[in-house]
Amino acid sequence: MSWQPRTSSSEPGDAAQPGRRLSPGALLERAVQGARDDEHTALLVVRLNRSDRLAALAQHPESRQTLLEIARRVEAMMRARDHWAVASHDELWVLLVDLPTTALAELAGRTLRESLARPVHADDRSTPIAQLQPVVGGCWTLTSDRDAPVELLRAATAACALAAAEDDQVLISAPQTRMRTIDRNRLENELRVALYANELDVFFQPQVDLRTRRCTNAEALVRWTREDGSTVPPDLLVSICEERGLMNQLTQFVLNTALRHLMTWSGQGLELGVSINLSNTTLADSTYPALVAHTLDTWSVDPTRLTLELTESAIVRNERSAIEFMHRIRDQGCKLALDDFGTGYSSFAYLRKLPIGELKIDQSFVRNMIADRNDGRIVQVLIDLAHTFDMMALAEGVEDAAIAARLAEAGCDVAQGYHYARPLPPFEFAGWVRAFNAGAADQDGTARAVPDR
Ligand code: C2E
Ligand code: CA
Ligand code: CA
Repeated sequence: MSWQPRTSSSEPGDAAQPGRRLSPGALLERAVQGARDDEHTALLVVRLNRSDRLAALAQHPESRQTLLEIARRVEAMMRARDHWAVASHDELWVLLVDLPTTALAELAGRTLRESLARPVHADDRSTPIAQLQPVVGGCWTLTSDRDAPVELLRAATAACALAAAEDDQVLISAPQTRMRTIDRNRLENELRVALYANELDVFFQPQVDLRTRRCTNAEALVRWTREDGSTVPPDLLVSICEERGLMNQLTQFVLNTALRHLMTWSGQGLELGVSINLSNTTLADSTYPALVAHTLDTWSVDPTRLTLELTESAIVRNERSAIEFMHRIRDQGCKLALDDFGTGYSSFAYLRKLPIGELKIDQSFVRNMIADRNDGRIVQVLIDLAHTFDMMALAEGVEDAAIAARLAEAGCDVAQGYHYARPLPPFEFAGWVRAFNAGAADQDGTARAVPDR
């Protein structure tokens, strides 16, 4: 199958040879090597949304079989000049070059999505081993306009996020990358000023111990309200910081602010811990552990009260330096948590090697754990896994009492989510904790004064 009309076989062998797989970096380099200036280049980002998430996580043989089948289907629809790359277990990139019309990018996106959405069967079985719910986003550009490949990737990734809201799950966008860059430039400038002037806020979301039913820790989450009163989603804010080299400043601002509040609360008799999100770039910074130690010292906060949250992708990207980083943080007495656990498709085996004290089970599993039996099983497996490695299990995205109760039954240690509270400004947060721990902020009878473990 090919999305390309074979009649236009301008190059010999074009129709016969499949597209080739490249590394993600090599594929992006290719994006700026189009031959003719009046033709188009398109980059497609494909989120696979595999149903065999649990098998993929454990690198089950059937999961590898699924990957081979995905590769076969992608290559079957490509022309010789097209290339593709596996960006992660859940994401592919497809590069289409020398397109005479942009409609072909659209056609390729739809054909690819249809092909990947068919159930994956093992040779000998009638029940599928996996089902994908692919979402395809893409961006095309005139080869002569050559945007930096990273701009093309950014635009295609943004289109992919928007494609999830489309009926057919496909969205190929025009080259608006420059406009996007301008917007981001403006935001970047405002953000630099806001960071300099300490105009960002840090909110706190309670984490509740499911056994003692007390809140003793909170996750610090950044908030930015611009001068015109609009709010910038934290995800966007973080991505601009990553991209424009402002990440260290942001992380330091959040750490400083959070520890300052912790010290104030401690002075008022409220002893709490806080969790801070670290970005991938921070994990690569070997000077960061010393900065953490210095900041703890400045605010006279005991290191055991600080948890740093990392994601699997940050660790997998540069495993050796990440492990060294984690050991240094742990040796300083701080704790480490693995955020969004279950979405990274990495092997369970590496958990053994990491000095991590807490697994944060991703909200996508927790939210549907009662409605969807598979998600319920995944949550149980992840809780048991955490305990096998002597880690605490924390469930994120707990939105109602039934889920909180089910998590407690399943042995989960800590819960965080709207059921307890949304992220709160510091003043409200302190009041909330006092009331909750006194048993007064109870919305469902869960908050009782039970002695600490
Ligand atoms: P995250 O680290 O996974 O943070 C949890 C997100 O889930 C927060 O979104 C929180 O408001 C939201 N949430 C909590 N409980 C529930 C619930 O019950 N239901 C639902 N639907 N959502 C819930 P938020 O604040 O928008 O942050 C989004 C992401 O932005 C964070 O995801 C984190 O990756 C990043 N982020 C936020 N603050 C910081 C920061 O200071 N530094 C860094 N590096 N990243 C940050
Ligand atoms: Ca987090
Ligand atoms: Ca999370």
